[in-house]
Amino acid sequence: MGSAHKVDVGGLLAGSRQRLVLDDQVPLEPFEGITFPERAEVHLELEAAGQLLEIAGKVDAKIQGECVRCLGEVHGDIHLEVDEQVETGAKLQGNPFDDSNVLAGDRLDVADLTAQLVCSAIPIGLLCKEDCKGICPRCGENRNTAKCECNGDS
Ligand SMILES: [Zn+2]
Ligand SMILES: [Zn+2]
Repeated sequence: MGSAHKVDVGGLLAGSRQRLVLDDQVPLEPFEGITFPERAEVHLELEAAGQLLEIAGKVDAKIQGECVRCLGEVHGDIHLEVDEQVETGAKLQGNPFDDSNVLAGDRLDVADLTAQLVCSAIPIGLLCKEDCKGICPRCGENRNTAKCECNGDS
């Protein structure tokens, strides 16, 4: 992915620009069995506020994964309202991006930021449908599509 999705926010932080509007399409790496068939659509507005960089906007992504019950394919949409603050000092403290370099110097890594936001929004335990009946633990039959003889007393 390289540096294609890094944005120079130096001017913003130096106070020469009030606001930076950013539209990008970010490819995402597979994450814990989830893949992203399309690039995430990112719309962000960046604003400097003292020692903070305020990031507001939205991210839309499509996800593809496996149902935790029946292992069937699941497609889903993720829509995120972004409202984050990143400290611009050399030391990042007390924010969710502590372990990362979302902001390295004057460069905001939009791909990294997007990946973190999307991955934190992926529901744990994807289901192909609310009432997925799953796979029978006894005979291995997919109870959505077949009736097994185990009478469901698992
Ligand atoms: Zn399922
Ligand atoms: Zn069965």
